[in-house]
Amino acid sequence: MRFQHDSLPQRVRFATGDAATALGEEVTSLGGSRLMVIAAEAERELARRIASSLPVAHWHHEVAMHVPVPMAERARAAVAEHDIDALVSIGGGSTTGLAKAVALTTGLPIVAVPTTYAGSEATNVWGLTEDNRKTTGVDDQVLPRTIVYDASLMLTLPVDLSVASGLNALAHCVDSMWGPRADPIDRALAGEGARALRIGLSQVVEDPAGLRGREHTLYGSYLAAVAFASAGSGLHHKICHVLGGMFDLPHAQTHAVVLPHVLAFNAPAAPEAERRIAEALGSDTALTGLTRLRTEVNAPTALRDYGMPEDGIPAAVESVLGAVPPNNPRLVTADALAALLRAAWEGADPR
Ligand code: NAD
Repeated sequence: MRFQHDSLPQRVRFATGDAATALGEEVTSLGGSRLMVIAAEAERELARRIASSLPVAHWHHEVAMHVPVPMAERARAAVAEHDIDALVSIGGGSTTGLAKAVALTTGLPIVAVPTTYAGSEATNVWGLTEDNRKTTGVDDQVLPRTIVYDASLMLTLPVDLSVASGLNALAHCVDSMWGPRADPIDRALAGEGARALRIGLSQVVEDPAGLRGREHTLYGSYLAAVAFASAGSGLHHKICHVLGGMFDLPHAQTHAVVLPHVLAFNAPAAPEAERRIAEALGSDTALTGLTRLRTEVNAPTALRDYGMPEDGIPAAVESVLGAVPPNNPRLVTADALAALLRAAWEGADPR
């Protein structure tokens, strides 16, 4: 066995029902005395509930998906104007993304309180969008110093969005099996992540008001993101990145739809990934396990339902072809990719 694995330095707290206390302790340990709390309009009340006893110098509520550059600039200006010394992000991947964009240029520490299963809080990847083009990069400065996970904050996330977001996390697990830097540690984390997500998502659908499913799904999504941060983007993420940018599709739903098609394509050529995913999903084969879970949780099935135009397939094929990781388990041809995208567009059986 020969491999090199870098672990990212970060504290993680699981504190169900206790976000306010845990957040206060983490801010104190960082020495934060003039905080900027970033939370989308929709999470404004939630943010006040858990952060109102902290030394907040500025509440920032302007958040949008994929972090438009002008929005990042306004948040950075607010940091300078209010003499901020630490950032608190409370929300989904879009909110964490804005905090990362601010940390990228200011070096300020972030304490992240995630409210979806996107997993951005556990990666050192940032993203910014300008003129419909998304740029991403890697910088340890954007990695939140601490994550506070409180499953009770997930109870308001509607079931359909919970399912899409949880499958977005499962996509991190699957791509971590064959990503460009995938190593045995990533595969172990991804396997356990997938197991927890299977259990958690079924429970969320069965009992949306229960905490157990939300806890399992959060735990799984954290492991998924840690594995993914190390393994890097595989074929699945390359496809979703292109589709999201080109057609402005919703992030979590796009991942949820595309995942079974990439798994059906790659798994026959990736026996170890196939075995680990099948085991994690409690099934004979990886695809059977994923199909069963998707049926159970009523997963989204077709990209056309989210606004992708049919005549956009050729342009997407061309763009993805240039980004396929060289170590992908299977050769990706234009014809194969067109067939995969068409199946995902119309919601066909991935087999
Ligand atoms: P999001 O943050 O846009 O949230 C989706 C919706 O859910 C929003 O309307 C939000 O207000 C609402 N919401 C969030 N939490 C809620 C809660 N607890 N209750 C009710 N409503 C709630 O979407 P997302 O899928 O979490 O994140 C997507 C973004 O994150 C994309 O821009 C994606 O590129 C980025 N991302 C980045 C990384 C990374 O490593 N850098 C990883 C994953 C995702």
